[in-house]
Amino acid sequence: MKKISLSFLLIFCINIGISQIIDVHLHSYTDEDYYGGRPYPLGNISSPATAKGHLKRTIELMDSLHIEYAVISNSLKANEKWMEADDRFIPGYSAGTDLIPVDEFEQLIKNGKIKVFGEVGSVYDGTTLTNPIYKPYIEICEKYGIPVMYHTGPPAPHSESKAKRIFKGDPALIEDIIATYPNIKICLQHAGAIFWENAVILMAYYPNVYSDLGVLFWASPISEEIAVNFLKKCKNYGVLNKVMYGTDQMVWPESMVVSIDKFNALGFLTEKEKQMILYDNAKEFLGLVDAPNHK
Ligand SMILES: [Zn+2]
Repeated sequence: MKKISLSFLLIFCINIGISQIIDVHLHSYTDEDYYGGRPYPLGNISSPATAKGHLKRTIELMDSLHIEYAVISNSLKANEKWMEADDRFIPGYSAGTDLIPVDEFEQLIKNGKIKVFGEVGSVYDGTTLTNPIYKPYIEICEKYGIPVMYHTGPPAPHSESKAKRIFKGDPALIEDIIATYPNIKICLQHAGAIFWENAVILMAYYPNVYSDLGVLFWASPISEEIAVNFLKKCKNYGVLNKVMYGTDQMVWPESMVVSIDKFNALGFLTEKEKQMILYDNAKEFLGLVDAPNHK
């Protein structure tokens, strides 16, 4: 009897169109680097008091929001801890300008401990991906087919870095990297934010350029407006197949709910287009094969 009810429930879910999501932009934390326990000032989004509570809440939300995979980044230690807790996490190597040795980077890729190069947050150090220090890492990404996820737009205002620079976040500044390495898939995280029009131009011109929505749907009313304009232009340019969903929850996991709800409420995207952005495009970008439980 129990079995029949479950099958019925599954069929019902498929019919009403509950689809799975890949979130390409989450962050992992340890006790040492966790800075939560304070609400996000705009929108009053709560934050768990501890790193442990934050991980627990992120996993709970992944369950309730049907998130099948999520790319995480921060320290390698944080990634390790999160991957032990849940096998849906895909590890990204979060990089500023203080990089691990190239040999170690390559070894971690071989061991499956790094599957994405990013979030590369060079904007926080006042530079871009064109800085020669990144060259050997980019070449390893090319060798192993590792995608690059690169922070675009201004650095987060709450960062205490003195070196951060708004205009280093313009994706147009990394055109040389995009053009020099056409076999590397590059995701412009936050869709360029205030430089969103340049993100669309790059996506339309270069086959290897993608974008994620990052914080846009929850960080502020201005960023939400950017997200809408960006998606409308992507639709007009025929590049919605290169837009991916990501939350960039930082220490505020509830932002995942806010962001997905706002995205799903958009009237100008068809259900098929939403499905591409929430799932299909990321699956292609990350080179994932079907999970056994995927419909
Ligand atoms: Zn981020």
